[in-house]
This record gives sequence, structure tokens and C-alpha cells, in this order.
Amino acid sequence: MGSPHIPDPPRTCRATAVLPPELVLDARDAEGHAPETLMAIQTRLACELEAHEDGPHAALVRLLPAPHGENLWTHWTDDRAPEQITALTDCARTNGAPSGRDDVCFLYGNHPGRCSFDLATPDP
Ligand SMILES: [Zn+2]
Ligand SMILES: [Zn+2]
Repeated sequence: MGSPHIPDPPRTCRATAVLPPELVLDARDAEGHAPETLMAIQTRLACELEAHEDGPHAALVRLLPAPHGENLWTHWTDDRAPEQITALTDCARTNGAPSGRDDVCFLYGNHPGRCSFDLATPDP
């Protein structure tokens, strides 16, 4: 009955949210960083975790300059908009592939789900 089930590769969640204006200000005023060293603020967010049923979504808001090892993230749920910007240390696990094909996880430390290099991003 039916075709054999082929498991889908793990996918990125991609749930979307818009960063509220007050959080844009928080991200802009990231403490301890000269404004000119900061990268652009992401205001249109898409969850970067492995597709999940439970728990909050998470997206990178702003990259902080290396070698800080921290970036600005926000979390939200399907019924609550982002409320807070958090500086989180990088996950930085690697896929262990040889140099040239190696990849570092760009998610934050202790994130749920798999690392970014194991996730397929769905077509837009
Ligand atoms: Zn999500
Ligand atoms: Zn990771």
C-alpha cells in the first residue's frame, strides 16, 4: 500500500517573525561594541533551528565582530512575538569533514535539534 517511505532529510524550521522596533534599538545598541564594527540587523526573521513541534523559534538578529564568539539572537513562539535580544555564545561544533569541505555550526551553544550543517534549507 503506497510507496515506500523515504525519510526526508532534516529541515530547517523557517517559521517567520518580524523583529519589533524596540528590539531593533536593543540590537543597535549592543553593549561594548563600536557601532561601526557591528553588522546589519536582521528584522525579518526565519527560525534557524531544525524543524520542531515544541519550544520557541530562534533566529540570529545580529552578528557581533569576531573573535567575540557571541552573536545576538531572539526567540519567539507561534503566539508570542520576539520580546528579548540575547547574546549567545556560538555552538561552533564542526562536521568533521576534511579541510575545504568542513563546516562550522552557526547556531548558538546548546541549541535544540541538529547543527546547521546537518540541515537542508527548504526552497523558498
Ligand atoms: Zn522554529
Ligand atoms: Zn550546533
